[in-house]
This record gives sequence, structure tokens and C-alpha cells, in this order.
Amino acid sequence: MAIVNNLQIVECKVREYEKEYSRKENAVSLVAVSKKRPREAIELLYHQGHRHFGENYLQEALPKIQNLAELEVIWHFIGKIQANKTAEIAINFDWVQTLDRPKIAMRLNAQRPLHKEPLNILIQINSSGEDSKSGINIEELPALVKLVDSLPRLKLQGVMAMPAPHTNFDQQRMSFSKIMSVLQTFSYDLPVISFGTSGDFEAAIAEGSTMVRLGNAIFGPREA
Ligand SMILES: *Cc1c(COP(=O)(O)O)cnc(C)c1O
Repeated sequence: MAIVNNLQIVECKVREYEKEYSRKENAVSLVAVSKKRPREAIELLYHQGHRHFGENYLQEALPKIQNLAELEVIWHFIGKIQANKTAEIAINFDWVQTLDRPKIAMRLNAQRPLHKEPLNILIQINSSGEDSKSGINIEELPALVKLVDSLPRLKLQGVMAMPAPHTNFDQQRMSFSKIMSVLQTFSYDLPVISFGTSGDFEAAIAEGSTMVRLGNAIFGPREA
């Protein structure tokens, strides 16, 4: 199957880029972005041993998650979060990569079921206002880090960013390195850096990403 082959190809590329940019071996993990892809495609990759899948749209994700409940898929929510959807996110997902405001943090914390592990959280950073309005400005990071750290049902793991797409490799690296240099001025322990999509994951790995989120590179072009 093409997607199984594609997954192997991108995994090889990730390992190659780790070497090429002097990163530790296996420093970078891979989330397969399965938005607008059928449940069968997820199952196929799962049976190849892949576990981490990312979904953007709650209404689309819920039936897939329910249908695959027997499998130990690790679900990442990577879409925009509406306040009235937080309960379903807190119940059904293992990671939220797009936390961008205090209100959402408080709601996810209150709604995370007690029988589950604390919800893994990445705070989404808006890279220099290039992107849409998603994510916080990096100056606001300290306050949100402090809040999330204080909430017992959330486990702060790191940050996520999705800069505006550039085709130029050096520009791609620049977008990521700008964020990294500000992060390095903070002394927080943020081990997970979720940077990089199909179009820019080499640049992201070069600049310190520890988690890439790949859709098209695995599943082929998405229908609009
Ligand atoms: C769609 C999406 C991706 C994957 O993008 P591709 O170009 O398909 O690799 C990654 N992250 C987020 C937040 C997305 O919405």
C-alpha cells in the first residue's frame, strides 16, 4: 500500500535529518495527521506499528476515535479549540497541541476524566504574526506556562508552532530559529517542540523540532 510505503519513507527521512543536523538518534517523533482521511488508513498504519495520529476537526475525529477504541491509538488534537468543545477533547484525546488561552486550559483541566492520565499539553505559539490568528504571542508564554503547570489534570509537555508556509529552505529555518531563540531565553522545561509539516520538516528538524506532524507526505494530497 502506498501509505505504508510513504510512512517508511518519511521515517527514514526523519532519521537521516537527525544525523545530518547533529540531532540525537530518535530525538524526533512523528505524528501522522489523519484529518480528512478514512479510518481504514489509520488502521493500516496502526497495524504497521504506528501509534500517534493527529486530528483537526472534532466532529470528524469523534467517530474515528470511537470506531478504533479497541486500538491503543494515541490521539493528538491539533485544530482550533472552541470553548464549547473542550469536554469532548478532554475525554477523547491524549494530547492537545493547540492550547492558546487560559480559559481553555481551565476547562480542559476541569473536564479531564479522573480515571485517565493528565492530558498532555503543547502551547501553540503564533510565529511572528505570519500565520492566521492561531496561537499566543511568544511574550505571553510565561503566564500560560505558569497556569498550565498549576493545573493538576494537565501535563505541560512543550510548545507547537506552524509558521506560514515558505518554499525557501532558509526562510523555513529562520521561522523556526526565531522561535527557538526566544524559547532559549526562558528557563522552562519544555521537552517537546512540535515543529514541521510535510513541506518544512527538514528545516524544523534542523532547528530543534522533537515532533513533526505529517499529513500529505504520508497520505498523499488532501482533497480541499
Ligand atoms: C494539516 C496539518 C498538518 C499536516 O500538514 P501536511 O502539510 O499535510 O503535512 C500539521 N499540523 C497542523 C496543525 C495541521 O493542521
